Amino acid sequence: MDIQNLLDDIVGSVQPLTGQGAVADYIPSLGSVRRDQFGISLATGTGDVYSSGDADVPFSIQSISKVFALALVLARDGDSIWKRVFREPSGNPFNSLVQLEQEDGIPRNPFINAGAIVVTDRLLSISANSPSAVRELLRKESGNDSIDTDADVAISEAQHGHRNASLAHFLASYGNLENPVDSVLDAYINQCALAMSCTDLALASRFLATNGLRSDGTPLLSPPQTKRINAVMLTCGTYDAAGEFAYRVGLPGKSGVGGGIVAVVPNNCTICVWSPGLGRSGNSLAGVAALDEFTSRTGWSIF
Ligand code: GLN
Repeated sequence: MDIQNLLDDIVGSVQPLTGQGAVADYIPSLGSVRRDQFGISLATGTGDVYSSGDADVPFSIQSISKVFALALVLARDGDSIWKRVFREPSGNPFNSLVQLEQEDGIPRNPFINAGAIVVTDRLLSISANSPSAVRELLRKESGNDSIDTDADVAISEAQHGHRNASLAHFLASYGNLENPVDSVLDAYINQCALAMSCTDLALASRFLATNGLRSDGTPLLSPPQTKRINAVMLTCGTYDAAGEFAYRVGLPGKSGVGGGIVAVVPNNCTICVWSPGLGRSGNSLAGVAALDEFTSRTGWSIF
């Protein structure tokens, strides 16, 4: 298969969709990103990279960071995080508050904001309160040492982060945070505001396609742990559109409101797409269409 040709084709066919959808202006600094951009990169388990379109333009990774935070916590703690977070799809928007009260302060899954705040809290505890554990993992696995938090995005989110602050205080009221609310929110916002390109993200997520092996060949996760993260990505990675994403794309995937989506073809490759215009559930419109076309044409779906 001529992968380069395929990616170039996909850039052409999603063109009418780029520029559609809404940018995530509830974080004001994301509201100024140009919507007519689209990038795609594919990284094989052995580190070959194919890319097309705006694949090397950095964007805000937002909730894609939640996968890496979870990987670090599972790697260190094993299954104990599942006492503090469920792993069922929520069927609700990513920043919803209602379910958290109904379910006594245990978030539905680690990829909605409430669940990711709990995972980030645990990550802070096991990384000696360093708020940059996710950044270090991403730098190492992508080979790009200049990856960093976009300070404007972080400040913008902190100034408008009332919902996340509510979720964190709620979690604390149920005894489901180990660290002070402000430190946890700070670490969460900083990892969401990391700026990376499609190529960086495709490379950094390869361990999800290699049974947990890092780029240097050492294990980050065991094969069963890798299977489980991929399963949670499939069922919860695109929030209340996870059913539609499975139907159209048929791969584990994790989206962010910056317009990026990372998808995993287990034992084969990772793909990162990016286009800032979002659909109703906060997933990139052109990104989902591109992954739909990719799996339909290659047959590289898990179904
Ligand atoms: N930082 C964003 C928030 O907390 C992440 C949401 C997302 O990408 N879905 O609202």
